[in-house]
Amino acid sequence: MGRHLSVSRGTPRPRPVQLTLDQALLPRAYARLYAPSARRRLWAFSYTCPSCGGTHLGRSRELDAVKGTRKAGCGRKVWLEVSSVDLEVREPVGA
Ligand SMILES: [Zn+2]
Repeated sequence: MGRHLSVSRGTPRPRPVQLTLDQALLPRAYARLYAPSARRRLWAFSYTCPSCGGTHLGRSRELDAVKGTRKAGCGRKVWLEVSSVDLEVREPVGA
């Protein structure tokens, strides 16, 4: 067992959830994602803008990069959360 270098006083408290300033302050939008398919190599997403109420579209190379601070189509900054992912799985109906 190695030496404990940190000195703890009292009961250790659980760390508060780390929120970035943007995440805490920006209006939040919830995006519906569409997986790359056919000739589209990027993730596409749409979301209802919390600032202007319109629908904005976006694309991202990485799925993980969708979430976070984003400049909306109307020019305002929003915090984007992924609400659902459409993997475009097409199975024959019935069977
Ligand atoms: Zn907008």
